[in-house]
Amino acid sequence: MKILVINSGSSSIKYQLIDMADESVMATGLVERIGEGQGALIHKAHPGTDREAKIALEQPIPDHADGLKLSIDLICSGENAVCAMDEIDAVGHRVVAGGEKFNRPVIVTDEMMPDLRETERLAPLHNPANIGGARDAMALFPGVPQVLVFDTAFHQTIPPQAYMYALPYKYYEEDHIRRYGAHGTSHKYVAKECARLMGRPFEELNAITVHLGNGASMAAVKNGLCVDTSMGLTPLEGLVMGTRSGDVDPAVHHYLAVNRGMRLAEIDDMLHKESGLKGLCGMNDMRDIHAAIAEGNERAQLALDVQTYRIRKYIGSYMAVLGRVDAVIFTAGIGENDQVVRAKAVEGLDPFGMKIDHDINETRSKKGRRINAADSAVDIWVIPTNEELAIARETKNILQ
Ligand code: AMP
Repeated sequence: MKILVINSGSSSIKYQLIDMADESVMATGLVERIGEGQGALIHKAHPGTDREAKIALEQPIPDHADGLKLSIDLICSGENAVCAMDEIDAVGHRVVAGGEKFNRPVIVTDEMMPDLRETERLAPLHNPANIGGARDAMALFPGVPQVLVFDTAFHQTIPPQAYMYALPYKYYEEDHIRRYGAHGTSHKYVAKECARLMGRPFEELNAITVHLGNGASMAAVKNGLCVDTSMGLTPLEGLVMGTRSGDVDPAVHHYLAVNRGMRLAEIDDMLHKESGLKGLCGMNDMRDIHAAIAEGNERAQLALDVQTYRIRKYIGSYMAVLGRVDAVIFTAGIGENDQVVRAKAVEGLDPFGMKIDHDINETRSKKGRRINAADSAVDIWVIPTNEELAIARETKNILQ
């Protein structure tokens, strides 16, 4: 079975064609600057093998349908074609927000479109593009199942005590304001992978998953089900991120409006794009922050301290939520690569049975690995996430 995985953004499309027989990647690509004067496409056939062929195009790509058509042409025709179009058995699409209705992957139909359009207000920057991508693919691949995999789905097992905000109830009933979380596909993938590596059933695993990329979130997983997560109605709540604030007192809006005359849209923009690590020290890439710390930059040190303190605080609260914790799992760009952040995130948690092995933690690897000390009661793991493969697996599951 060959599955094409598509992640449509507001002006981009990422894609991967995966052969499910051995889960190998047959082709991968990125279309960017869709709708701008000059678009760009980078495509790789047989990536990472000795047959790898790379194609880079620069040309106007007026809309997403054109971008998708261009990608399919590169996958299925020309000298670097990897398979015929009718060999693609299904297309899996990443969708950021599924609301309460879409709590598992679905094979998309025209009848679902009104309900899907309802979810757009929960992720106005992402969902219209994600769902538009599915509509384009339906037209390009008539009769081929299009599966939507929702980033929020894994979090739909969170109980009301954890997903409700203490606001007047009507805002939940009428406006659907509650915690939905995000990165669910990644949290589920690394938790499952951890269970496999630990040799125990996923249904019996209690874990705290820490996804630290440019966006960052954590989840508490009990017996293989998500019971709490740090992102909220939108992906702004929770951890300190590259440019997003994470948790702040909601009264900040009123305070800034009154004292600085800022408009709501300005404050929202500042919380999303000018805050987090960038807000604290002017840099949002952890590699730059470490370089600045080495040169004695105190703000960079502060940014690292605030970020890792917040992670540690969430680890503590999820320990209280779970009772028994089998594993803490770090993943994504920072989680997989940054030994300093990992060490600081669990610093001082020895009395709770969480002890890192500093030598193993500092060893670089692209593989899933355990980094806790031999006498740590709780396992600490680094597990590379693979959202494309997770979407392909979900797509295959629903078809079977
Ligand atoms: P992601 O969103 O998962 O792609 O993660 C992107 C972020 O990972 C970047 O903004 C960096 O802050 C961080 N990152 C990537 N590589 C490294 C590295 N080698 N060391 C520390 N941080 C890294």
